[in-house]
Amino acid sequence: MTDPRRSEYFLRRLVSVPSVSGNEEACVDVCLALMNEIGLKTKRVECDQDPGAVNVEGIFGNKPPVLCLTGHIDTIPFTDMTVNPLGEERNGRFYGRGASDMKGGLAAILAAVERVIKNAPPPRGTILVVATAREETIKSGGYQLAHDHRDVDGIVCAEPTDCRIAIAATGSLPLRLDVHGKPGHSSHSGSGINAIRATLGVVDALYQEFGDTVTVPYVGERQRGFNAGVIRGGMAQPVVAESCSVWLDVRVFPGETNTRLLERADAVRQRFERSIPGLRLKVTPDRLDYQGNSYPLGSLAYHIHVDRGMKPLLTTPGTPLVKTFVEALRSEGGDAALTMMSGWGDIEFLATDHGVPAIYFGPGDIKAAHTRDESIDFHKYHLAISVFERAITTFLRADSGIEPD
Ligand SMILES: [Zn+2]
Repeated sequence: MTDPRRSEYFLRRLVSVPSVSGNEEACVDVCLALMNEIGLKTKRVECDQDPGAVNVEGIFGNKPPVLCLTGHIDTIPFTDMTVNPLGEERNGRFYGRGASDMKGGLAAILAAVERVIKNAPPPRGTILVVATAREETIKSGGYQLAHDHRDVDGIVCAEPTDCRIAIAATGSLPLRLDVHGKPGHSSHSGSGINAIRATLGVVDALYQEFGDTVTVPYVGERQRGFNAGVIRGGMAQPVVAESCSVWLDVRVFPGETNTRLLERADAVRQRFERSIPGLRLKVTPDRLDYQGNSYPLGSLAYHIHVDRGMKPLLTTPGTPLVKTFVEALRSEGGDAALTMMSGWGDIEFLATDHGVPAIYFGPGDIKAAHTRDESIDFHKYHLAISVFERAITTFLRADSGIEPD
């Protein structure tokens, strides 16, 4: 017997406590309390080199295999929300900051794990639940998780996939484009070389270069995401702008390298330098934080975002983890066709650095994430819980009969 109100309790509790990235302490306490309540052995884990960032871990069992289930605690800010950011229910949906991204996913994990633990017989393997810190900003929680748990047999992150199984995700190449022209007076037509005007042309050319379609193994064709996020340049209206800088985000697909993508950006740079004598362009890796500052060289944030970088992820469908979730989702009547997450999530560290099979599966919808009226569909929420319950039970059973291809 399952009690939908009990399942929804986890969602309501998590959304009711603010956890804007960097101010997560109150929700850390709630995560600890909820994990204790469902029968996990819990601990707080401070993240190295990021003071105040805390992961919450809960564990059940001590035998192999170990399945790790994870979701980030933090959310983006409440700015301009048109619904109660701490939760309200309407027409079969639950509204609030983090409802989709991704307290809904974390809540679904907790509800499912409680059912699995209470079921008889209890699971044979080990369930490890990790609620991670600061995914929306520095990403120190996911980085710490990879450091602490490289030996797990599989990891599932409940980012919003609308109850689809995502075996792939894009990485991100952060670039800075600096354009230098020549100053002049605006009253004199043709004076100087306007760096702002040149920049607009270069950015447009880069949009064309990186608007390509890529074939992702097992998934199909996807169009690349590319974004000019910040632009700064010029001095005053009567002055022909001497310099302009733009910060860009190029999404990276499985199998691609940053080196190759940089070469493509550089080819565009060379084309413009040749066509406008006197114009100088430079393309370098760089990422700004949400306050508009570059991450300091040598900091953990610089390492994660620029030096190491956020890499693409691909898990082959033949692994027991993927097969288990496909079977569970199919059995519960969901859409079991494999897909890809368009964004990046923090299980990438564990997957690419330590080769742990990793997937994204969560009840939220990426289209509802980060919106002013963020919400989650209750039907999808309950579906995800049933799928998690079934998949966790199967994966942890030694005689599951599911072998890798
Ligand atoms: Zn997220």
